[in-house]
Amino acid sequence: MRPKRVLVVGGVAGGASCAARLRRLDEQAEIVVFEKGPYPSFANCGLPYYIGDAISDEAKLLVATPELFRDRFNIEVRTEHEVLSINRGARKVEVKDLRKGSVYQEAYDALLLSPGAVPARPPLPGVDLAGVFTLRTIPDSRAIRAWIQESQPRNAAVVGGGFIGLEMAENLARRGLKVTIVEMFDQVMPPLDREMAEYVYVHLLDKHVSVRLADAVVRFNGSDGRVSSVETRSGARIQADMVILSVGVKPETKLAKDAGLELGPHGGIHVDESMRTSDPCIWAVGDAVEVRDAVTGGLSLVPLAGPANRQGRIAADAICGRPARFRGVQATAVCGVFGLTVAMTGVSEKRLLQGKDAGYAAVYLHPNDHASYYPGASEMHLKLILRRSDGRVLGAQAVGGQGVERRIDVISFAIQKGSTVFDLEEAELCYAPQFGMAKDPVNLAGMVAANVVRGDVRLAKWGELADCGAFLVDVREEEEFRRGSIDDAINIPLDQLRQRLSEIPNDRPIWVNCARGQRSYYAVRILQQYGFDASNLSGGYNTWEVWYPEGLPSGVVAQAEQTSRDRAA
Ligand code: FAD
Repeated sequence: MRPKRVLVVGGVAGGASCAARLRRLDEQAEIVVFEKGPYPSFANCGLPYYIGDAISDEAKLLVATPELFRDRFNIEVRTEHEVLSINRGARKVEVKDLRKGSVYQEAYDALLLSPGAVPARPPLPGVDLAGVFTLRTIPDSRAIRAWIQESQPRNAAVVGGGFIGLEMAENLARRGLKVTIVEMFDQVMPPLDREMAEYVYVHLLDKHVSVRLADAVVRFNGSDGRVSSVETRSGARIQADMVILSVGVKPETKLAKDAGLELGPHGGIHVDESMRTSDPCIWAVGDAVEVRDAVTGGLSLVPLAGPANRQGRIAADAICGRPARFRGVQATAVCGVFGLTVAMTGVSEKRLLQGKDAGYAAVYLHPNDHASYYPGASEMHLKLILRRSDGRVLGAQAVGGQGVERRIDVISFAIQKGSTVFDLEEAELCYAPQFGMAKDPVNLAGMVAANVVRGDVRLAKWGELADCGAFLVDVREEEEFRRGSIDDAINIPLDQLRQRLSEIPNDRPIWVNCARGQRSYYAVRILQQYGFDASNLSGGYNTWEVWYPEGLPSGVVAQAEQTSRDRAA
């Protein structure tokens, strides 16, 4: 029988892993990878650190070379070869050799598309000035490094405060630049809920990064063809002798679209569970495709390396006739920001609210990463989102130092397996004092949330604090209360609560807080048993400080944007 001929478009994350897996499954197949860039299989995730000199040797970014593909896997990789079009009827692709300029055709039995995504480049005045960069490839990072070396810029503007923007802010600061981040939302790291992003915002300010929230760049100014400043919607002019545009990516779908393949509602390539497109001989993976969100069931674009690699393997299995099914994505992600770890998985509260889903609860915790008696313990901030009716875990976000990503990974796997908060309560996790706690933060999150699902404690909603009409009781010690408190709260330390019940009205809701949520939980249990309508402000004063960094506004939602703007100014 004639060997199967598989062509792969795009030789980096999804394409390379698909090609390598194909070879392990089918020793006879002819496999050719086309990569329009100069390198296959490079570490795009390492590029910000190459720019920041944390990785100084460019060669370290090359995970596998064409020679390795040839010698180890018997796979032909043609770099600087761009696939121009697909002729589905004839099962051929048209390829351009970018070095020679020649165009030729190649036939396939199966075609895998992993063309990735392209960084968005908003068509603003001045966007083409020298010194305005996007970052996707090794040549992009080389150009940025060369600019830093040759032009000795002093001020950088990073447009967009998401993953790549924050990584670039850190790495440019590491190179000695004064960095300003401009973000059009009222928070950095938009996948996080706003209050969780506040920890990141404060940390950036601590590291002397300027952050302008709820503002957008409207033009780039320059002289002699080189960028010199950016102007924002609010009228601010920010000195910038270099700019990084990190305002998101768009799935690279031109080939697929021109070939008449079906696209999804978000503009990505539509695939089934085995990563097969609407053409039975064509598969697609990675940043270019739309995949099922494992929590909401909806379609989404999730441009992350893990899913791209896993999808590559699934597609290889499917191409070889094996049963293969991609389980969907949860957008599990982690980012390092000046020593702070920011990690998340599953759905955020704001996405549930956008979908008008009211059947969830969110709990906050601020545990240490390991036993406090062992040196070096640090606080992490953890938010767990769960379905109120049955306790199914829907999402989690965490910000802190060491151990943050481990907790999110555990919760991510729990979500993938459809677990509940009761499973988190019972999860058996490794423990020694320098690594964790006998009740790990994951167990604690499960316990706090399980109390809510079992009905042992009612949760007060931070977002409704401004006009809840509740009587606020702070059960911390007087000294703690004096250092700062929630607007309008009265102080009754937990140990005095039973003696001072007469100070608490029994004709209105009572919302209780402490420092982190534990003493207030005890207080709520006491109050409930004395007949009070008591609820817990989860996470306590620690959570208050990020929900309302400026104190209670009179109309929370209406003022949120203004508040952020004031703070950025
Ligand atoms: P890519 O890896 O981008 O590969 C697509 C390749 O296809 C490209 O090399 C392109 O040149 C080639 N191509 C496109 N069209 C054609 C054509 N017509 N012919 C031939 N070749 C073509 N993800 C994480 O999970 N964690 C991180 O820390 C992280 N950091 C990142 C940092 C940066 C700076 C960047 C840019 C991305 C980062 N990502 C991270 C995202 C991650 O790199 C991507 O999700 C992943 O690489 C997607 O894989 P892919 O195969 O879909 O696309």
